[in-house]
Amino acid sequence: MPENELYDLIIVGGGPGGLSAGIYAMRAALKTVLIESAAPGGQVILSDEVENYPGFEHISGAELSQKFLQHAKAYGLEVLSQEVTAIAPGLDLHTVTLADGRRLAAHAVIIATGGSPRKLKVPGEDTYYGKGVSYCAVCDGFFFRNKTVVVVGGGDSAAEESLYLAKLAKQVYIAHRRDALRAGMLLQQRIQAECKIEVLWNTVLTEIRANAEGVRAVGLKDTQTGAERELATDGVFIFVGFDPNNRLVPQGTRMNIDGYVETDDKCATNTPGIYVIGDLRAKYARQIVVAAADGCTAALAAAHYVETRKAADQVCELPQDFLS
Ligand code: NAP
Repeated sequence: MPENELYDLIIVGGGPGGLSAGIYAMRAALKTVLIESAAPGGQVILSDEVENYPGFEHISGAELSQKFLQHAKAYGLEVLSQEVTAIAPGLDLHTVTLADGRRLAAHAVIIATGGSPRKLKVPGEDTYYGKGVSYCAVCDGFFFRNKTVVVVGGGDSAAEESLYLAKLAKQVYIAHRRDALRAGMLLQQRIQAECKIEVLWNTVLTEIRANAEGVRAVGLKDTQTGAERELATDGVFIFVGFDPNNRLVPQGTRMNIDGYVETDDKCATNTPGIYVIGDLRAKYARQIVVAAADGCTAALAAAHYVETRKAADQVCELPQDFLS
């Protein structure tokens, strides 16, 4: 790719949303590049099993991601393995800067950078990360075969990952701060039916304690009585939601109080030509199928936007400052 190349569309982020956008953009004949710093697939790669993506009753996250990638590449999507350091909106063209210093220009940009696991912010969490503290059961569960683990959280992630861990571990405790799980009903039923899982209701984790070999116990507190106790464990898996990766979202873009980007029904932000899709977008459901749908919507909207701009002949050359 030559330096300072001009694209119709740049997609930042290679999860289900970004790759779906890539498929639709290529089918709409947009000159498109997708930029992803990690392995394409996004958070889904970390899922042991995906059971709610239509057409696949059971598929691993890694395999589904691979299928998205293959599908997009079959249409000739250019995929660039690079870190994006900045996205600067322009009046004519938007500029995307890469970690290696290159700058790419595009009529439209789709930001699909998703979110990252939220920290619990308790003593020991950072210190013992990788030494018994984990945010990914599929990645680290193997190390806890026939051992005891504590899972923190009550949502879909905590429930799914607990069920995965129950296949390996001797005992799984779910510490949940309330008296009811947030996870979907089917997952709740499976949790109840799994004899290796015990839910510790109204319980928060206050501290992670370790010795030279790694995590050995957690401090727990009953949210109703205030009683504190220690529970022996070999590992702690934290699934308390995630935070939107909004670092690259240009200043002035409308976001909600939690840092998710507000868009219209075309996934367009308040900056013309900049779209946000997937888990970074403010919306009701954060699911693979929704991210994929966002990708479709944004790519079709971007195609219309780019065609309209080109037809109006408002932009035909790289601006002088871009080439400098
Ligand atoms: P989530 O739905 O936001 O759940 C986070 C859980 O952590 C909640 O139970 C919450 O408790 C608890 N929590 C949050 N902060 C806490 C703290 N400081 N201390 C203790 N507990 C805390 O997050 P998620 O499970 O990661 O799911 C994120 C999104 O992805 C959701 O929309 C979910 O439906 C979706 N998802 C879907 C699937 C699937 O469909 N296969 C799989 C994974 C995730 P409260 O309940 O009291 O708020």
